[in-house]
Formats: sequence, C-alpha cells, structure tokens
Amino acid sequence: MANSPLEAIRSNIDKAAGIADRKPSEIALIAVSKTRGSEEIRPLLESGHRLFGENRVQEAMEKWPALKADFPDIELHMIGQLQSNKAAEAVALFDYIHSLDRPSLIKELAKEMKRQERQIPCFLQVNIGEEPQKGGCDIEAVPELLAQATSAGIEIVGLMAVPPDHENPVPYFALLAKLAREAGLVGLSMGMSGDFEQAVKLGSTHVRVGTALFGPRPTAAG
Ligand SMILES: *Cc1c(COP(=O)(O)O)cnc(C)c1O
Repeated sequence: MANSPLEAIRSNIDKAAGIADRKPSEIALIAVSKTRGSEEIRPLLESGHRLFGENRVQEAMEKWPALKADFPDIELHMIGQLQSNKAAEAVALFDYIHSLDRPSLIKELAKEMKRQERQIPCFLQVNIGEEPQKGGCDIEAVPELLAQATSAGIEIVGLMAVPPDHENPVPYFALLAKLAREAGLVGLSMGMSGDFEQAVKLGSTHVRVGTALFGPRPTAAG
C-alpha cells in the first residue's frame, strides 16, 4: 500500500535530518489545519498524529474543543498573527504560541497566563525578510523582546519565521538559526510545504506543513 502523505512527509523529514547528522526525534511535524474541516482532521488523529497548527483564534475555537474532547493529548499550535484582544482565548485553547512579536502582546499574554494559571511556551516571531506586511519583530529587537518576555514570566522556547515568498529561503533559515544561537534558544519554527527539508537541514525543530499534507487550500488563506 502507498504511504499516506503524513508518512511520506515524516520520512522526508527523517531523511533530511540524517543528511544533517541530526536525530529525527528533534523535529516536530505540525500539521497546519487552517481552513480544513474536522472531517479532514479526524483521519490524521485516528492515525495517531497529535500536533496541529491553526492561524486564526476564532476558527480554532470552532473546531478544536470537540476534537480535544475525543483526543485529549492533542497539542495545538497558534502559528498566525495574534491580536492582543484574543489573548485570553488563545491562552485557553493553545498549547504553544509561535507568533509572539511585540511588547503589548507580551503584556496581555503574561496577564492571561497568570489569570488562567496556564503557562504557554512561546516562540518569538521574527520578520526575517523585513517585509512591511508581515508579522514578526525586527531582527534587532530579538534580545530586548526575549528579556521582556522572560521577566514577564513567559517561557520563550525559540524563534519562528516565514521567509519572503518566491525567494530562496535558505539564507533566511540560516539567519534565523544564527539569531536563535546568539539568543541561546534551542527551538526553531521554520519550514513549510515547499521548503521543510531545507529548513530541517538548517536546524528546524518545528516544521509547519499544510498543503503538502492536506492538498491545496480552497482560497488564499494566508
Ligand atoms: C499556512 C501556514 C503554514 C503552512 O503552509 P503550507 O505552505 O500550506 O505548508 C505554515 N506557517 C504559517 C505561519 C502559515 O500561516
């Protein structure tokens, strides 16, 4: 029988890890399920997959409480831009946040984590291609934001970035890896459907894969 897309992607991750002399177990595969209905998500859960990523709080709140009731060990990752007024819902629903990128969000998330007594590990998102329309902090702002988040009681586990479309992502992955090293951070959330193998070779610990797993999205959903 042919491999499922999930198995094929996992095996490509493991191969890329081998080439880079890394352990496959260091790399988490986040299935990006934005725009996908529960009927598309359930087969992955039934096959044993547990890590999923969403980019909108509202959409995630409509889908995941019911799925979490059936599969309590789901690990849900917030990978999209987060508005401060959604901090309470995000802290309640997600297990990781990849898009922490500004002081006002640090403040809101820290407040909610205390209030809900729920610590959510976060990645600092870096605007690695210095694109005006993209989320993420400036490259130079990483040390200051890291210090602010840490002193607010938020655990920062790594850096996250989305390189510019239609450009070779390799220099951006290498730069993000260098920034993480300099900051003393181990986690690297980088690599999507088109470039996760390159990301793994450059040190990614969390690849975020949507279309390669589920097929093309119906509309441009970000
Ligand atoms: C949609 C999305 C992904 C997945 O993209 P694919 O190209 O479908 O694999 C990864 N990261 C972020 C931040 C996204 O918004």
